[in-house]
Amino acid sequence: MGKVLVIGAGGVGTVVVSKMASLPDVFTDIMLASRTKSKCDAIAGRIGGNRVQTAQVDADNVPELVQLIKSFKPDIVVNVALPYQDLHIMDACLETGVAYLDTANYEPPEEAKFEYSWQWAYEDRYRNAGLTAILGCGFDPGVTSIFTAYAAKHHFKEIHYLDIVDCNAGDHGKPFATNFNPEINIREVTQKGKYWENGKWVVTEPHEIHKPLTYPGIGPKESYVIYHEELESLVKNYPTIRRARFWMTFGQEYLTHLRVIQNIGMARIDPIIYNGVEIVPIQFLKAVLPNPGDLGENYKGWTSIGCRIKGISKEGKERTYYIWNNCSHEEAYRETGTQGVSYTTGVPAAIGAMMYLKGLWKKPGVWNVEQFDPDPFMAELNRLGLPWHEQFDADLEV
Ligand code: NDP
Repeated sequence: MGKVLVIGAGGVGTVVVSKMASLPDVFTDIMLASRTKSKCDAIAGRIGGNRVQTAQVDADNVPELVQLIKSFKPDIVVNVALPYQDLHIMDACLETGVAYLDTANYEPPEEAKFEYSWQWAYEDRYRNAGLTAILGCGFDPGVTSIFTAYAAKHHFKEIHYLDIVDCNAGDHGKPFATNFNPEINIREVTQKGKYWENGKWVVTEPHEIHKPLTYPGIGPKESYVIYHEELESLVKNYPTIRRARFWMTFGQEYLTHLRVIQNIGMARIDPIIYNGVEIVPIQFLKAVLPNPGDLGENYKGWTSIGCRIKGISKEGKERTYYIWNNCSHEEAYRETGTQGVSYTTGVPAAIGAMMYLKGLWKKPGVWNVEQFDPDPFMAELNRLGLPWHEQFDADLEV
């Protein structure tokens, strides 16, 4: 059906190409390109069958990207490198007339700040070029946004309260490790908390608001309100929302390590001189922490991510609704050789590319995933390893 170029050979990239390779009717030709070609070759070798071609590319170099895209001629580029590369890859897609998909919004390297403004600014250029850009198609953002769209389409006349709840109850056996790129992860979880209430953003100290929430099949876990990027587009696309928050579970051990890392200056993102060489402390830290893509082997337990929603039903009655997916780290590892967080991000990215190639999510412009029809995507989640469950009129705890 179509050709796809995947950029980024980390944990998420491994899952994306593994899943795509298992769907030859949809993804006829797959190329995996990244900064370090040997990582692409290792992933392609594990998949086998000459299903995946590989290439070296510096995704911060637009002419290099343009050359690669022109030679491979993909229908869509799936960006699972780092958020720093988003704008360069969007530029290269515009120049070559190819569709774009990513899982994380742009973040300037020199400032720990993420928002959609930079990518939404491409709207006119993509629309005028007749090109589709699909933003935030991982799990969160991604599936959580599509869960919300599904709830709005089928179960609610108005959504009033949205609480996205993200629990990782897995244990990788290491004293400290992050589940995706450590630099991006630490920048995200150490920033101030932020949520939407009554038409404005409320800012809190980091991890200031917390309480135990009960996750299906897991039990109660201390959960913390943090800022997460899908809140920005969801409150824009669903203006009836009065309050939108994002909760994430953290263990005490993780928070203690994080506090120490910050207190000793290792979370700094500004360059320092060490022995005459310029280094960025958080990038040095990434180099000594476990590689998230390698955590899978001993990872046990589950992730549970979903949306808890309150509002007015189609029939005009007050309603609560909980929709979620539980994913096993062990099963993710058995299938792809990576852990559950890479799996829950990579599978939706592959499904999003499939939606585009099937013509179901193809419309000129720059879109967040909740702006597409959720139904065919939700059906593929059930088929491709991330089944979801729903519960009506239960106590949401939030
Ligand atoms: P990793 O750090 O494991 O992998 C990133 C990959 O991108 C590496 O292979 C790296 O190359 C490559 N890369 C970095 N810079 C460049 C560049 N300039 N040119 C080419 N390749 C480059 O990260 P993850 O796989 O854990 O995460 C990938 C993305 O997924 C991130 O953007 C992350 O924010 C996002 N994510 C989204 C989630 C969601 O639910 N929406 C959840 C988790 C992650 P090298 O190997 O040489 O370093």
